[in-house]
Amino acid sequence: MHDILIVGAGPAGLTSAIYGARGGKSVLILEKLSYGGQIINTPEVENYPGTKHTSGFELAPSMYEQATSLGAEFAYGEASGISKETDSEGKPYFKVSTKNAIGEAGPDYESRTVILATGVQSRPLGLPREERLVGAGISYCATCDGAFFRGKDVAVLGGGNTALEDAEYMADIANKVYLVHRRSEFRGDEITVRRLEEKPTVEFVLDSVPVEILGEPVVSGLKVKNVKTDEERELPVNAIFVAYGKVPENQNFSEVAELDKAGFFASGESCLTGTPGIFVAGDARAKTRRQLVTATADGAVSAMSAIEYINTI
Ligand code: NAP
Repeated sequence: MHDILIVGAGPAGLTSAIYGARGGKSVLILEKLSYGGQIINTPEVENYPGTKHTSGFELAPSMYEQATSLGAEFAYGEASGISKETDSEGKPYFKVSTKNAIGEAGPDYESRTVILATGVQSRPLGLPREERLVGAGISYCATCDGAFFRGKDVAVLGGGNTALEDAEYMADIANKVYLVHRRSEFRGDEITVRRLEEKPTVEFVLDSVPVEILGEPVVSGLKVKNVKTDEERELPVNAIFVAYGKVPENQNFSEVAELDKAGFFASGESCLTGTPGIFVAGDARAKTRRQLVTATADGAVSAMSAIEYINTI
């Protein structure tokens, strides 16, 4: 029986672990992939106070080591469900069931509290054959896969900060980068747009949406349509980096933590849910700003709330 079980080892979950362990509680972090969450794919981190410049590659292991050196335990596995239980003394606890990477049932874990820091997943492009071509030209992470396309032509899709940063990253690697966005204005930061305008390898393809992935068995192009003129154009690219934002995958936990219409945990800044003992943290929570610093803030708040709850039961 642990005091605090944390689902997800991104910045939110790792911060919960640091606060929980420092608060003298036994902590288990459960993670289905590897620690770090989305930050692990971020090459430039310049907005985390106290560190002028770092990368997710450096920051994530440092957070992990901080949590485990304080005594937090770490286990691999995907949390597949949570049930409410009561022990022989009448005290409430939760049983967290798990499955492994190939979908087989894993061990059950018991904990007095659970912090759900499940993060978000990449939103798909939504075109036929997309899933089949993942690894054959379709990617959701330019910093992970970009080096495979050195000297080639690529497309980056989206207009948020991820798309802008992906385009900037690929501009120095690829021969040509088409930045395809459905509007004429970008959602991401103006300063990055200005830098991209100076890059000779980058072409903005605005007011345009992708309509067909070309190539078999690997990507050889992308057909796009201008939404104002209906004109179609084929971009001769070997890779398509999709940066359409992220979506939550919280369905497994909807019985213990209410979800909003978009599937995010419907909790306020307090990180509390309607179930005493269940807390939520990070990008999986309904919020307006998803940043590294807001994720770590949730981690701290949720762990302090969990400690307070444990001390009252
Ligand atoms: P995002 O801000 O939600 O942007 C997603 C982009 O994809 C938008 O431009 C959106 O277009 C487009 N899009 C979504 N669905 C689409 C569809 N079906 N068809 C065509 N276009 C579609 O996601 P993000 O860029 O991953 O950023 C997520 C959060 O992380 C943001 O708060 C961002 O600021 C933050 N972030 C920060 C940094 C940094 O500070 N260094 C780096 C990366 C991300 P519309 O604009 O038309 O809606």
